[in-house]
Amino acid sequence: MVIGKPFLTVEQIQKRVKELALKISEDYEGKEVLSVGILKGAFMFFPDIVRHIQVPMNIDFLIASSYVKAQTSGAIKVHADLREDIKGKHVLLFEDIVDTGLTLKYIKDMLAARNPASLKICTFLDKKSSRKADLDLDYIGFSIPDHFVVGYGLDFDNKFRNLPYISIFKERT
Ligand code: 5GP
Repeated sequence: MVIGKPFLTVEQIQKRVKELALKISEDYEGKEVLSVGILKGAFMFFPDIVRHIQVPMNIDFLIASSYVKAQTSGAIKVHADLREDIKGKHVLLFEDIVDTGLTLKYIKDMLAARNPASLKICTFLDKKSSRKADLDLDYIGFSIPDHFVVGYGLDFDNKFRNLPYISIFKERT
């Protein structure tokens, strides 16, 4: 396995996270937000961004998975659901990466059925060229080409999540 040099550096990531937080703070001014971190992937992005968002908020988590190693299995599993009742609340989902969009479409449809006041998506990375699901993304950190990336919460085989930057993953053949 080869981890190359950073594709997105710590400095680029932290600058963009603050910009996104500022935009979210402006958009939700006067409202209370229920921020939902989608785990495991958003475990770094989520605390980084919410600490810069300047509106009152509650925090919740949802654990879901869809990938087996570097290939999608197509199956989405919710391992742990929200603890909060989201009816009538402004819900903002924080995801690490949207690739096919199937995971988030599944989660969004599941949560929309619970009648939140609003339901938006903030993703750290967007791989738009691989999209299969019809899904609107409200806030995007970085749009990237179709590489398999690791770091900043993103794994290969549950490893590399702790890297503070994003790197392109290559398997040694
Ligand atoms: P989707 O359902 O949008 O195809 O996939 C979403 C999930 O697949 C993400 O939450 C992430 O766990 C995983 N995933 C998609 N692309 C990548 C990637 O480039 N690197 C890693 N590590 N995971 C990815």
